[in-house]
Amino acid sequence: VIPTFNEEGNIELLYNKLKETIDPLRLEELELIFVDDGSHDDSLSIIKRIATHDAQVKYISFSRNFGHQLALKAGLDHARFQGVISLDADLQHPVELIPEMIQKWRNGADVVFSKRIDKTLPWFKRTSSKLFYRIVNSLSQIKLEDGVADFRLLDEKVIKALLKYKETNLFIRGIIPSLGFKQVSIEYMPNKRHAGETKYSFSKMLRFALTGIT
Ligand code: UDP
Ligand code: MG
Repeated sequence: VIPTFNEEGNIELLYNKLKETIDPLRLEELELIFVDDGSHDDSLSIIKRIATHDAQVKYISFSRNFGHQLALKAGLDHARFQGVISLDADLQHPVELIPEMIQKWRNGADVVFSKRIDKTLPWFKRTSSKLFYRIVNSLSQIKLEDGVADFRLLDEKVIKALLKYKETNLFIRGIIPSLGFKQVSIEYMPNKRHAGETKYSFSKMLRFALTGIT
């Protein structure tokens, strides 16, 4: 499941990389679900074009921009498989780790989440993120780790539990640790965003943080 907002420069390359990585795994059934979160560039037409020649590619198209978390949730709502992997469209989440995630799942994990090990984040992002997790952790019984990303594999039973939340102000990375189940992590070095700029403006980040806290 790939939440996509104005990622016209990334979709084609991501698609090719995903196919390269996933095809050799010979999964019985597979879908690549792009959730277009109200893009106003060419993202949707690129996705549609890919979908016409690849039956594994599905898409959901939002009527406007609802935000990354709701795009992710819509993807989970529509995924109909035993396991679902979510990742960003900008190639920051290394596609090469997908086989390892699947292996860990096959070995019994219900959630395989990823933790960023990069220490070279811009000062502002690093400091604000640390501060945010300190505040959240002082308020909550569930301990959240800094650097946990929305790059993860969820087993269908975890998705069922997650979708029981009728919360619309979603902070998925906070809900998942509270669900229980067998959760294991993998570490990753984020790549540089391939094309375009971050789609998390300062105001979106602030809103996301407040949503997480409340
Ligand atoms: N995204 C989205 N809707 C939004 C903002 C972002 O679907 O309103 C998607 C975006 O296209 C990307 C992912 O969410 O696939 C993460 O966004 P981004 O890479 O801009 O965040 P950053 O890595 O800078 O925190
Ligand atoms: Mg990114």
